[in-house]
Formats: sequence, C-alpha cells, structure tokens
Amino acid sequence: MALEEYQRKRDFARTPEPAPAAGKGHRRPIFVVQEHHATRLHYDFRLEHAGVLKSWAVPKGPSLDPAEKRLAVRVEDHPVDYGDFEGLIPEGEYGAGAVRLWDRGTWWPDGDVDASLSKGTASFRLEGSKLRGGGRLVRLRARGRGEGKNWLLIKRRDEAARSADWEGVTEERPESVASGRAIDAIAEAPQRDWQSERAT
Ligand code: MN
Repeated sequence: MALEEYQRKRDFARTPEPAPAAGKGHRRPIFVVQEHHATRLHYDFRLEHAGVLKSWAVPKGPSLDPAEKRLAVRVEDHPVDYGDFEGLIPEGEYGAGAVRLWDRGTWWPDGDVDASLSKGTASFRLEGSKLRGGGRLVRLRARGRGEGKNWLLIKRRDEAARSADWEGVTEERPESVASGRAIDAIAEAPQRDWQSERAT
C-alpha cells in the first residue's frame, strides 16, 4: 500500500482526515480538487488510480485557460476516502487549515496511467462540476531541490477551455461542490463535520 507517507505525517486521533484504508475504489475513477487554506493557499488536484488518489498541490489552482500553465507539485498518495473530505485540519497538525471540496467528478486517462506518470506526461479528460474536458500534467526537468516533483497542469484547447479575459474559475466558482459552503463556514463548523463523518 502506497500510503505510508500519508500515515506518517498525520495523527488520526487529532485530525478529522480519513485514516488510510484499503481503497475500495469507484467503478469510474474519481478526480477531486480540494481548496486547502494551509500556511499557503493551494488547490490539491487528485486522480484516483489503483486504489489511491495520486496528488499534486497547485498553488494558483487549476485554470480553464490553456495559456495558463499552473505549477503542480507532486505530493504523497492519499486514500480514496479523502475524496469526500471537507473540514478543518486543527492547528498544530500537518496541513492545518480549512479544506473545501472545490470540485469532484470522474476522469478518463489517455492510455496507461502508470506508464504516463513514470514518463512524466499524462493527458486525461475530466467531467466535474467546474472542470471539464481535456488536460494534461507534464513533469518539469529536475533541477536541484524538489527534484522531479514539479509538474505543470495545463488545460487542453477544447470546447471547455476559456480565454484569459475573465476572472478565473477559482474566483468565479468558489463554492463547495459538496456543501455549497463558503470557506469561513467550513472553518467555523469543523466539529459537526467531524462527528457526522465519524458516525457514518
Ligand atoms: Mn494540501
């Protein structure tokens, strides 16, 4: 199981994030984008594959503009259950801050996922509420620190693409795809989410 790093970084007695579990997986693999108000705001872009969520932290978030190549830093695999997580990671814990489920849907890889990721170029199609159509992840050449972890997330030119003369999808559509909540409401009501998640 590729979740050792995920486990090592977190104390599941303190964080409401899901503990690592054998990924049941979905019939159609999901993608999620989580807006994460950690020390630095970023958007976590996750693709379900082989029982885990392959994950990248995107500081500026995804764009629908093919000219906007967004840095995407590869981070540790997350459990599939993380795709349902929205809430507050408490102060003092890894990644402390509010997490909003910004988008969710299904994804279709072009070709073999493992081969594409090891080759460093993976193209795909997304069908979410906010992100749709084609896109790709391209690994940047390693240069010293952060070696091999830096990728670019790029929208394909297709009918779902948008040009630069607008605000950007993260500004235009900030609401939670799961709850419709604003980020302040998520940060202020963490206990309720935690208890309801644990109760089910
Ligand atoms: Mn994050």
